[in-house]
Amino acid sequence: MTTTGHEPDAMPPVLACRAVRKEFNGTVVLDDFALEVAEHEVVVLIGASGSGKSTLLRCVNLLEPISDGAIHLDGEHITDPRVDPDDVRRRIGMVFQSYNLFPHMTVLDNITLAPERVHGRSRASARTHATELLERVGLGEKAGEYPDRLSGGQQQRVAIVRALINSPRLLLLDEVTSALDPELVGEVLSLIHSLREEGMTMLLATHEMGFARQVADRVCFLDKGRVLEQGPPEQVLFEPEQHRTRQFLQRII
Ligand code: ADP
Ligand code: MG
Repeated sequence: MTTTGHEPDAMPPVLACRAVRKEFNGTVVLDDFALEVAEHEVVVLIGASGSGKSTLLRCVNLLEPISDGAIHLDGEHITDPRVDPDDVRRRIGMVFQSYNLFPHMTVLDNITLAPERVHGRSRASARTHATELLERVGLGEKAGEYPDRLSGGQQQRVAIVRALINSPRLLLLDEVTSALDPELVGEVLSLIHSLREEGMTMLLATHEMGFARQVADRVCFLDKGRVLEQGPPEQVLFEPEQHRTRQFLQRII
C-alpha cells in the first residue's frame, strides 16, 4: 500500500512527513513524526486530546510552520520556504470541526470565493463545478441560501464541498463531526464514506471509533506527538499492542 522508496520508478506517496518536529515556544508537540499516505488511502488519526492531531493537519496544510523535518506532497518538498503556500493549499482540501462558513455570503459564494479570488479560476467554471458538487451531496437547492438557514450537518457538507472545489490530491478532515448534534453526524460520515468509494485520499482525525473502523485503511494512534502504533483498524482498535493505546481505547469506547 505504501511505497518503500526503494524502487526508483515507484510513485511517491501523496503525503510524506519525514522527521517532522513542531514546537510552540519550546514545547515539542510533534516529535520526529513520520507518516506516509498513499494515493487512494484513508488514514485515520486517533489519540487523546493534545496528542498533536490538529497540529499535524495544520502543518500539512501550511497553516503552521514546522520546526524541523520535511513534508512532501506528491514528492514535492512543500515545507521548503520557497514554496508558495497558496499553490500547495490549492492541492489540499481541509475541513475543520467548526464549519467556518462566512455568514454574510451564500452557500455558492462561500464555495467559490477561494477558487475565484485566490486561485485565479474563472467565475463561471467555479460556479458550475460548485453547483455540480452541491447536487452530488444533496444540497443543490441550497446554493442561494445563507449558512444560518442550514442545519449543522448541511453546513458541514457545504464546508466539505468547499474543500473539494479544486479537486484536491489530499483531503484533511479534523474532527468534522464533533460539533454536530448526534442525529446529524450520520449524513456527514456517509458523505466521507462516498468520497472514500470515489478514491479520495484522506487523512482525518476523529473520536468516532466506529467510523474509524469503517472508513480507515490504516489507523494511527498518536501519543505525545508521535505515531505510537499503526495498522489496519481491526488490529489497532481491537488488538492494540501498546499499553497506552489500550488505555486510550478503554476510556473512549
Ligand atoms: P489534538 O488535536 O490531538 O487534541 P493539538 O494538535 O490541538 O492536539 O495540540 C497538541 C498540543 O499543542 C497541545 O498541548 C496544545 O496545547 C498545543 N498547541 C496547539 N496549538 C498551539 C498554539 N497555537 N500555541 C501553543 N500551543 C499549541
Ligand atoms: Mg484537535
